[in-house]
Amino acid sequence: MSVLHKRILVAEDNELNREMLREILSGEYEVLEAGDGQQALEILKQNSDSISLILLDLMMPVMDGFTFLDKLKENPELSLIPVIVMTQSGHEDDEVAALTHGATDFVPKPYRPQVILHRVASLIKLRESAAMVNQFQYDRLTGVYSKEFFCQKVRERLLENPKQDYCIVCTDIENFKLFNDIFGVREGDRLLKEVAEIVKKMVGRTGFCGRFGGDHFLCLQEREQLDRQNFGMYQEASPLLKSVVMRWGIYEITNPAVPVEQMCDRALLAANSIKGQYNTYFAVYDDALRRKLLREQAITDAMGTALMEEQFVVYLQPKYSLADGRIAGAEALVRWIHPEWGFLSPGEFIPLFEKNGFIHRLDQYVWERVCALLRDWQRKGYPLLPVSVNVSRADVYYLRLVDTLWELTQKYGVDPAYLHLEITESAYAENTGAIISTIQQLRELGFPIEMDDFGSGYSSLNMLSQMKPDILKLDMKFVQNEIAKPAEESILNDIIVMAHRMRLGVVAEGVETQEQVQRLREVGCDYVQGYVFAKPMPAAEFEKLWTNQPEKQNP
Ligand code: C2E
Ligand code: CA
Ligand code: CA
Repeated sequence: MSVLHKRILVAEDNELNREMLREILSGEYEVLEAGDGQQALEILKQNSDSISLILLDLMMPVMDGFTFLDKLKENPELSLIPVIVMTQSGHEDDEVAALTHGATDFVPKPYRPQVILHRVASLIKLRESAAMVNQFQYDRLTGVYSKEFFCQKVRERLLENPKQDYCIVCTDIENFKLFNDIFGVREGDRLLKEVAEIVKKMVGRTGFCGRFGGDHFLCLQEREQLDRQNFGMYQEASPLLKSVVMRWGIYEITNPAVPVEQMCDRALLAANSIKGQYNTYFAVYDDALRRKLLREQAITDAMGTALMEEQFVVYLQPKYSLADGRIAGAEALVRWIHPEWGFLSPGEFIPLFEKNGFIHRLDQYVWERVCALLRDWQRKGYPLLPVSVNVSRADVYYLRLVDTLWELTQKYGVDPAYLHLEITESAYAENTGAIISTIQQLRELGFPIEMDDFGSGYSSLNMLSQMKPDILKLDMKFVQNEIAKPAEESILNDIIVMAHRMRLGVVAEGVETQEQVQRLREVGCDYVQGYVFAKPMPAAEFEKLWTNQPEKQNP
């Protein structure tokens, strides 16, 4: 029998009838035969995916047709196979009963070959086209809806239930690609199936979910249900999922006229907006997020041009020595002067550039501008003054950091001793090994290292002894908080004593009042940077301030 023939299972205890059916069908189909319901089930279990249709007699020994139908419908794999029940004429009750037990159609005995062939052919065709539709409606791997079907279902539901408040919830697995790379596609699939189970459980009976390809699952959920959700908890339940981070994004449907695809995009954007944030599991898409995302997009679109057109400008903020009140150095702080948006402060674009990697290019630009400035001062015959530049956390992992900085100083003939590197404290907290060695190399080349934002929360004294910076830069908030405390409760004094014992200079940042200056002087702080003396200013202005300062001064 050719494999191209479709298979039909005939369940009938009467041998004569079986023979007749075989005669009728075998021209076009491969016929499998069972003498009772039990046998029929056995055959099905062995050939479940290859049987296109069942012809079923109701009255059989061992297991009758009704019981067989019930068993068939319990099994999700088998329940979709169409069943034609063969009934005796005059037993109309049987026909109705068979249909309620899940039969698809019936044919009366005695058999009429043309009727049987016709019904069999059209049912098989119907089922195949339904299977085709199913293929597009369900995600093959996880069994949840496909993207298109999910969106269609959402549209229908919103029309059917206009009074109910709904939201779209999506989940995104952080570093799913990495997980796939490390553990293999098979484990990745297993992970996706577990996520599908979680989202199904989450929506319960009142909602539904779909997979949008990759690791994105979307759900439609009733609004009230959302309030009871503990997103952090879902993950805890699965050992496999504990090794990844799931982020949830929520879009509350207020206007059903918004295209469903767009609602889903917004839920995904909300989930993306918390990527990399420790301890934040979900975000709701709202106007503030929308504005922020639009702004970020505009900044991303504009940054390349901005760098080429020199819209980034290096400002300098002086650092004063408390010993003699004179300018002892400066910090280079970048500003973005955009032709339309005007003045942008780094707080707005630096974190974004750290995320999208542009920080390497911008920092390199700033470092080069500062080297050029130091060379100019040298040429003008000014006394040498150290300027510090910020080295972002992302720069530290950049493999050529040491070479890049060295090459820049060589190109401009600058002694690295005058290019201080401010490395933010949080950078030390991560990949310690790589950072220790990078910093070690930079120090060997003669670049002084300043540990920036000390006291802002990531600090450990342990790190200080490992990193061996040259200068400790106290975080602005830390300084302000410590000074606000009664002297005997403040640890400011202890920190400075300890720093001096380790031969570190100490700079206090963000100093705004004379009272703070006084306290810092009392506890032996070496340098002060803050609005109390000067704000960051364009290089030309700084130059004037610096070169015009009187010989000795006591601020
Ligand atoms: P930071 O390195 O901690 O820089 C100190 C910030 O404190 C600067 O803000 C400075 O203007 C501000 N500041 C100084 N004195 C006072 C004061 O008395 N009161 C107050 N309220 N603020 C004061 P800015 O220039 O807005 O820079 C913010 C952050 O952006 C910097 O923090 C730094 O982390 C980053 N940044 C700035 N320029 C660059 C750069 O070229 N590269 C990199 N990677 N980061 C930069
Ligand atoms: Ca800094
Ligand atoms: Ca700082």
